[in-house]
Amino acid sequence: MELLDERPVPEEAREVKQQAREFAAEHIAPNAAEYFETGEYPHEVLEAGMDAGLVAQDIGEEYGGKGFSLHQVLAIAEEFYRADAGIALTLQLASFGAEILEEHGDEELKEEFLRPVATNEQITGLAVSEPDTGSDLAGMTTTAERDGDEYVLNGEKYWIGNGVEADWVTVYAKTGDDENNRYGNYSLFVVPTDTDGYEAEHIPEKMAFRASKQAHLTLEDCRVPEDHLIGVEGAGFYMLAEFFNHGRVIVGGHGIGMAAAAIEEAWDFVHDREAFGRSVDEFQAVQHKLADMRTEFEAARALNWRAADHVADSDDAGFWAAMAKLKSTETANDCAQKAMQLHGGRSVLHDRRIARVYRDVRVPVIYEGANDIQRNLIYNQAPK
Ligand SMILES: Cc1cc2nc3c(=O)[nH]c(=O)nc-3n(C[C@H](O)[C@H](O)[C@H](O)COP(=O)(O)OP(=O)(O)OC[C@H]3O[C@@H](n4cnc5c(N)ncnc54)[C@H](O)[C@@H]3O)c2cc1C
Repeated sequence: MELLDERPVPEEAREVKQQAREFAAEHIAPNAAEYFETGEYPHEVLEAGMDAGLVAQDIGEEYGGKGFSLHQVLAIAEEFYRADAGIALTLQLASFGAEILEEHGDEELKEEFLRPVATNEQITGLAVSEPDTGSDLAGMTTTAERDGDEYVLNGEKYWIGNGVEADWVTVYAKTGDDENNRYGNYSLFVVPTDTDGYEAEHIPEKMAFRASKQAHLTLEDCRVPEDHLIGVEGAGFYMLAEFFNHGRVIVGGHGIGMAAAAIEEAWDFVHDREAFGRSVDEFQAVQHKLADMRTEFEAARALNWRAADHVADSDDAGFWAAMAKLKSTETANDCAQKAMQLHGGRSVLHDRRIARVYRDVRVPVIYEGANDIQRNLIYNQAPK
């Protein structure tokens, strides 16, 4: 069964899609169950991904990367997530947030921090969410106060991918206090993780995405030079919003990959299993479930690739990105739910791929902005 066919993928992204597929078959799928079980950080798979030229390569050629386009990263995401979500996230997070530095940072900062990520000598992370605030980007309380030629950061961040493992993270912090301009109060900073006052520990074990690691950060009088500010002071919220438009199309690809995995598992299972003296796939109710899964999958995938065009062209990007993320990640949930039912009792066996997918689909409906927030964005940003 070929669910992730090439048809919606533009020509420029087909070669890398094929590379990603081969890499996923050789390095991700065979290791998925073990990493899910142990919850270990998949260092070896990450290194293999770097050797294969598939990690952090959205960074431009002038900084040592390959300049993968949004469509190319989306094609990789679909293939990686079909093989395993936790490992896939670790591979795709190695440069998380660095794209903002590339887009808005000054040249010296890029030479120092962006180039080592593109050449796979360093990895990074993006620190936005906090223990008490996640969805409200204008409600974060971590502060960055200017002191001479430095900024002093204080506060806590939570859920930060690679917060322990990264060499540096992009931190979102409050630099202003204007109640009439809530969105203009935030800025972004490059913070090396060996800076005094930067502490990180892994958050408790998760029931899903077990091969990806998130951290609880504590920033206590954490000083960075003033030139570690990305772009201009007060523009952090807007830079992040723009970055999330790209990210949400990619997260849509996370959903598509997982939905494909669920459909494949369900299809194989019902064709192998017998009940009432016949193959389970012969029951019309079962066929209808599979028909609905496939239809929703194709609808979501078509929307997702269409959204990629809109975001790449900056054409109502926020509206399309939110719809793609919403539809694809919820389709993954629907498909996983139905696939579980079709597996009968075996659905809950620990070693089943479907049991893993069923748990993993719970995450992309939350990260990169909970889906309730996507609905707000779709309504508010719909072209009028
Ligand atoms: C595995 C994983 C990895 C992550 N990685 C990162 C990372 O690398 N960096 C980072 O900064 N963050 C990361 N996050 C955090 C993620 O972005 C947040 O969890 C997400 O934004 C939601 O924030 P919250 O969990 O605080 O939920 P809350 O903001 O507390 O919201 C809880 C629920 O309330 C409802 N709700 C809240 N506000 C509204 C509203 N305005 N309208 C309607 N409903 C609403 C929604 O149902 C929402 O799900 C990660 C999360 C997970 C699970």
